[in-house]
Amino acid sequence: MNTLDPRSALVLDTHELGRRAGAMFKKSLTVGAPEDLGDDVIGIQSGSDITLNIRCESVIEGVLVSGDVVGQATGECSRCLDPIAFDVTVEIQELYEYEESENDDEEALKLEGDYLDLEPVVRDALVLSLPLAPLCNDECLGLCSECGIRLSEAPDHQHESVDSRWQALKGLLDEKKEG
Ligand SMILES: [Zn+2]
Ligand SMILES: [Zn+2]
Repeated sequence: MNTLDPRSALVLDTHELGRRAGAMFKKSLTVGAPEDLGDDVIGIQSGSDITLNIRCESVIEGVLVSGDVVGQATGECSRCLDPIAFDVTVEIQELYEYEESENDDEEALKLEGDYLDLEPVVRDALVLSLPLAPLCNDECLGLCSECGIRLSEAPDHQHESVDSRWQALKGLLDEKKEG
């Protein structure tokens, strides 16, 4: 059974390791980001460059892949909705077991012949690194809940609340009573 497409940018051929434990090679590659990395608020745009610097090492049970992945996240500030973009760097480390490995762990990633697929690992690492509530900067004050003005541009901005109007009216009535 071979379901991996060797032409896919994130499928790696480990043939040169020759299953000799300790054999190792390093690889740097830049590929287009796979689809659906993130959500509507923040994500890594499909097709944008992601760069991998990895090392593949032959171990007893399979091939150990480690290294880092760099991409650019784009989206909008969760407070003021301004567009934002920032670099994301994540570390990956994953053991791909040989197909015939006896390990019962169903979660374990397997090699298919000499090939391994980096996509699920790269995807998980990048998606988990994305902030749930991204900000344009930590001090972003967001938008006024009443009129939507950018509060960082209007620091003294406020609306007369219903409460304060009642207070003023009550004040007038009290004055009348006393007078
Ligand atoms: Zn903001
Ligand atoms: Zn306002």
